[in-house]
Amino acid sequence: LLAAAESGGVASYHPVLDQQSLRRLQLGTELEQAMADGQISVVFQPIIDAQTSDIVSVETLVRWAHPRYGAIAPDDFIHLAEQIGRIGAVTDHVLDLALARCRRWLDQDIALSVAVNLSVHCLTEPDLVARVRRALQRHRVPGELLTLELTEGSVVDDSVRDSTVLADLHGLGLRLSMDDFGTGYSSLSQLRQLPIDEVKIDKSFVLGMSTSQGESFIARSIIELAHNLGLRVVAEGVEDELTRNLLAEMGCDKLQGFLVSRPLPDDRLESWLLARTGVRKAAPGAIHRRL
Ligand code: C2E
Ligand code: MG
Ligand code: MG
Ligand code: MG
Repeated sequence: LLAAAESGGVASYHPVLDQQSLRRLQLGTELEQAMADGQISVVFQPIIDAQTSDIVSVETLVRWAHPRYGAIAPDDFIHLAEQIGRIGAVTDHVLDLALARCRRWLDQDIALSVAVNLSVHCLTEPDLVARVRRALQRHRVPGELLTLELTEGSVVDDSVRDSTVLADLHGLGLRLSMDDFGTGYSSLSQLRQLPIDEVKIDKSFVLGMSTSQGESFIARSIIELAHNLGLRVVAEGVEDELTRNLLAEMGCDKLQGFLVSRPLPDDRLESWLLARTGVRKAAPGAIHRRL
């Protein structure tokens, strides 16, 4: 971060540490303590069945409430955590909060599945599968109630493809989802080669659907392709009724977006669920009222 320039045998240092890099550097050093201090929390965004509007799952999204900078978006620190090798710790922290939430629902006889974002960088961590298994055991949550969404470009490199990590994760009973599909380097061949259960159409396409035929065509193509491969499809970024109706007509399986709900902190999700379903104690697997 400091550029050294040799001039006439004398090294002079030009500080190129701009405000942004300085802040990033600082955030990196603060991340660990921030988790310990409870500054890193999660919010949950409901995902509904596109045909019935039943709530089927919630996606866990990380949040950092920084004492000086205020709210820091995941896009501003997930990449940083990957770079400094701390993404595993963040993942464990988020998984812990998600499964604890899931456990509390189970204690109320509500079997609601949770999705957690998993940076593909984590797939090369040798103890990943063991950590996920232990987290499930610690919270006594069956693997069937967990979905891991592969994020960060969704590019799964050869070493991962040749390893058994995805199959081993599958072996825990959980579902694997390819996040942000259609962007970055995620490819069709990956869908065929990897043990993926679901794709999430990237919100950049979904957001444009109500105004652009091109975006709608892409969404329709992804849905058809995924269904032909036996995969389920989630659309994220659903903001309006028109888009919701288009996606439902196209046979998209699940919907997520501000139209349904913004990501909510734990207590507000609880009241959202109550208001939508009208049930506090439901039979297992049964938050099945129309939203
Ligand atoms: P993502 O996994 O694709 O999550 C969806 C993002 O879209 C979330 O942004 C969510 O708030 C936003 N969103 C949902 N519905 C709508 C909508 O209708 N309109 C618009 N405009 N946006 C919508 P968020 O929470 O800022 O997260 C951004 C990204 O950061 C996530 O994208 C994910 O890639 C990453 N991320 C978040 N939490 C974690 C985490 O715990 N671990 C890892 N590795 N990555 C995470
Ligand atoms: Mg996601
Ligand atoms: Mg996504
Ligand atoms: Mg995204």
